Amino acid sequence: MGRVLIIGAGGVATVAAHKVCQNPDIFTEVMIASRTEKKCIALAEVLNKKYGTKVTTAQVDADSVEQLVKLLSSYKPDIVMNLALPYQDLTIMEACLQTGCNYLDTANYEPKDEAHFEYSWQWAYRERFEKAGLCAILGCGFDPGVTSIFTAYAAKHHFDEIQYLDIVDCNAGNHHKAFATNFNPEINIREITQKGLYWENGKYIETEPMEIHKPLTYPGIGPKESYLLHHEEIESLVINYPTIKRARFWMTFGQQYLTYLDVIQNIGMSRIDEVEYKAPKADGSGDAVVKIVPLQFLKAVLPNPQDLGENYDGETSIGCRIRGLRGGNEHTYYIYNNCSHQAAYEETGMQGVSYTTGVPAMIGAMMFLKGLWSKPGVHNVEEFDPDPFMEQLNSQGLPWHEIHDGDLEL
Ligand code: NDP
Repeated sequence: MGRVLIIGAGGVATVAAHKVCQNPDIFTEVMIASRTEKKCIALAEVLNKKYGTKVTTAQVDADSVEQLVKLLSSYKPDIVMNLALPYQDLTIMEACLQTGCNYLDTANYEPKDEAHFEYSWQWAYRERFEKAGLCAILGCGFDPGVTSIFTAYAAKHHFDEIQYLDIVDCNAGNHHKAFATNFNPEINIREITQKGLYWENGKYIETEPMEIHKPLTYPGIGPKESYLLHHEEIESLVINYPTIKRARFWMTFGQQYLTYLDVIQNIGMSRIDEVEYKAPKADGSGDAVVKIVPLQFLKAVLPNPQDLGENYDGETSIGCRIRGLRGGNEHTYYIYNNCSHQAAYEETGMQGVSYTTGVPAMIGAMMFLKGLWSKPGVHNVEEFDPDPFMEQLNSQGLPWHEIHDGDLEL
C-alpha cells in the first residue's frame, strides 16, 4: 500500500519499525535513516530475522534540509515518520514540502537553545502543506497522541460538551537503576524541569515546577503521587474543544527520581547553555578549551533508555479523566491503557514508554496510507476520525478500557 521512511533509530523508532514490519500489507517498503547508520543497520538485521522484511537504511543528518531533500527525492516515501528528536521537526517538514512527502511526528518542535515547546512553529506550515496537497500529522505518540484521540473519541461518543479534562500519565514500572529517564534524557529533563501550566476559564495558569501534586489512583496499580506538568497536547485540545473549562496534565514520579532531579538541577547539570571545559589534547601538549552543554554531557553518562527494557517490570497507565454534559446531565468518563514493560520488551526489545509511543506512530502512518486520515494541511491528531485508530489500538498491542460515571478524584 505504501512506502514509509522512518527517521531516527532510538527507542521509539525501534518499536515503530517492529510494528511497521508486522503490518506488511500496509507498509510495503520500509527505510530507516538516522544520524548513526550502524544503528539502522543493526535494527534492519533484527527486523529481517524476525519478520523477513527487507528494510533499507541510510545515513542522514536531519538538522540539514539539504541532506533530507536529497534522501527524500531519491527514496520518494509516501510518508515520513519523524521519530528523531523535536529539534528536527521543522527541517523535516521543510524537506517534505520541497519533495512532496507527507509527514508524521510524536513531539512538537523545540529549539535547541531554549527549553520551550509549542505548536506555533509547526502550525505556521499549515498553508504551505494545504497548498501542496500534503498532510502533516502532529503529535502521534501516546501523550500527545492517544490521549488526544481518547478525548476526540469521548467527544464523539460520550459527551455533548467536554468541560473538564485531566490527562493522567503513570509509570509504575521499575527499571532497577538508581536514576534513568524513559525516553531521550535531554528532552525528558528539559520537559519536566519547566514551569507547570494548565488551562482554566479561557487562560493559562503558570505554576512553579512540580508545585501542584496529589495522589491519584491508577487502575491495577493503586495510588501514586501525580504532579501537574505543562504538556503540549493541552494547547491544541483547548482550541479544538472550546467547551473545555479546565485542562490539566499529570505525571507520576517516585521520590527517588525527584531527589536525583533536584541534585541534577542544583549542581547545574540540567543547564542547556554552553560551558567551557578544559580537555587534555590527544598529543599530550596541554589542554584544549572545548565547549560542552551540561545536559548533553549528562545524557552521555546516564543509562540509555533503550537498554532499560530487560529488567523493567511493572506497567504504565495513561488515560483521560473527563467530566462534562450529555443530555443536560453531568457525566464522568475515564479511558485508559495499561502497558506492561516486560510484554513490550519481549515483543520489541524496548520498554513500555517507547512501546506506547511507537505503536501509535505506526497506527497514524497506517491511517494515512489507508486514506482514512489524509486531509491536506497540518493537523493535530484529534482533528481526524478517532474510530479507526481506536480499533487499531486494540489489535496492535495497546487495548483501552473505559469507566463510566466513576470517581475521577479530580
Ligand atoms: P532516542 O534518543 O532514543 O532516539 C532518537 C533518535 O534520533 C536516535 O536514533 C538519534 O540518532 C536520532 N537523531 C537525533 N538527532 C538526529 C539528527 N540530527 N539526524 C538524524 N537522526 C537524529 O529518543 P526516543 O526514541 O526516546 O524519542 C524519540 C522521539 O519520541 C522524541 O522526539 C521524543 O520527544 C518523542 N517521544 C514522544 C512521546 C509521546 O508520547 N508523544 C513519548 C516519548 C518520546 P543517534 O543514535 O545518532 O543519537
